[in-house]
Amino acid sequence: MAEYGAIINGVRDSLTDDWRFIENVFKLLQNADTFCADPNQWDRQKIVHFMQPDELKKLINLSVNEEEQCTRLEIEQLCQQVIQYSVKTSHGRFHNQLFGQLDPYGLAGALLTEALNTSSYTFEVAPVFSLIETEIISTVCRLAGYTQGDGIFAPGGSASNMYGLVLARYKRAPNVKSTGMFGMRPLVLFTSEDSHYSMKKAAHWLGIGADNCVAIRTNDNGQMLLSDLEAQIKAAQERGCEPFFINATAGTTVLGAFDDFTGIAKLAAQYDLWLHVDACLGGAALLAYKHSSLLTGLQKANSFAWNPHKTLGVPLQCSLFLTRESDLLARCNSIEVNYLFQQDKFYDVSYDTGNKSVQCGRKIDAFKFWLMLKARGYGTFGHLVDHAIDMSRLLEQKLRERTDRFRLVQDTHEYSNVCFWYIPKFMRVPKNEENEQWWTRLFTVAPKVKQQMAYSGTLMVGYTPLSSRGLGNFFRMVLTCFPVLKTEELDFILDEIERLGEMCVY
Ligand SMILES: *Cc1c(COP(=O)(O)O)cnc(C)c1O
Repeated sequence: MAEYGAIINGVRDSLTDDWRFIENVFKLLQNADTFCADPNQWDRQKIVHFMQPDELKKLINLSVNEEEQCTRLEIEQLCQQVIQYSVKTSHGRFHNQLFGQLDPYGLAGALLTEALNTSSYTFEVAPVFSLIETEIISTVCRLAGYTQGDGIFAPGGSASNMYGLVLARYKRAPNVKSTGMFGMRPLVLFTSEDSHYSMKKAAHWLGIGADNCVAIRTNDNGQMLLSDLEAQIKAAQERGCEPFFINATAGTTVLGAFDDFTGIAKLAAQYDLWLHVDACLGGAALLAYKHSSLLTGLQKANSFAWNPHKTLGVPLQCSLFLTRESDLLARCNSIEVNYLFQQDKFYDVSYDTGNKSVQCGRKIDAFKFWLMLKARGYGTFGHLVDHAIDMSRLLEQKLRERTDRFRLVQDTHEYSNVCFWYIPKFMRVPKNEENEQWWTRLFTVAPKVKQQMAYSGTLMVGYTPLSSRGLGNFFRMVLTCFPVLKTEELDFILDEIERLGEMCVY
């Protein structure tokens, strides 16, 4: 290895040129169809060049070594390869997750915060961003019907849901903060069988225990059954446990179902339980006009979680935890930290939001969202959310029109989710021949079509089983604000599934 001093000097001397390298990366991104913004180009641009892990390992020089140094040209080539073999989630035909294309203003905001590279803990190091976070939180509280309220940006919906549990537990038993849960009766929480798995994980992480996360049955629409909820609350009491928390869902992950918040809030009040709403997916309906009634009763919840990085197209990640309690978050989470949250500062320390957080360093997730709202106004997003939901109703209708080739999992959905099966040619038989064997076989179709999707790179739609109903694999398509789709695009999606579906070996 070269001499220590020479290396230090070498790094110092090349830094100016190293910084210039950023410009090359911007050019690469633009040239490589990363954003795929123009629908006229979608036929030409691939969403993914799929490679199996072993092939990809051979293709890209992955190993990092003590002494090997790539030249700038080689670094540029590596970046190019990474872009080439990554999934272009901003391609308008990427419908694989609950998020879709980015809002370009969101990306602009994300680039800016990455470049400024600061942390959301104090006003001192993030003056503008602290004010922006406060502004977003008070706006969302107002939209949710919280007259007072507080909140925090968290690293994803799973974490936001966990905030709800920690706050509820603190409210019930403040001593847990200092002395832990020793000697307490087991705390029990309730969430529907169709709800997100993060509740169970949170119960494990918080020492409540996954078994104390009780699954409540759902009705045919995927909504929590109030009768079962009440029965399970009573059963937990009879076991000598302490019910403390109900999680309702606004937009379940598979079916997009919205629980009956008003009915659940009544039960929560009756049994003195904290009501949290996991609105990670469906929180975007807060902005909607036509579909705003989906969230009726949300204001009665003690807290909720919302991921603007899903339906709205804020770059990952952007997740909010909101509560109607005005200073519980700070009391619950703050700890005396003399090197960071000094109380004798030269400015109003109420803007040091970091002490409400479980994190120390915290990415600036508010700014990209704020920039999008500044650029379009939140009313525009309301219409875009309505449009996404309307388009998914239209997709249902188109699926019904192709009734010999597609089958809806349920007749209609509440949100922008649409769940359906593709029926390949050889399986199109009279209804009375659709026996158990036929269904079992139908459940194997989606993974095969998915493989064709990956290899052709023309379309990506996710698939999933739904064990609460005993259903095997079906496609789950979730529409988002971006891309702003036209009707013809829905026809393309169904045509393409049919085309790929006939290329499979069954
Ligand atoms: C996506 C989702 C989550 C998890 O959010 P992450 O940001 O992925 O952690 C939780 N609940 C629901 C209903 C979701 O759709």
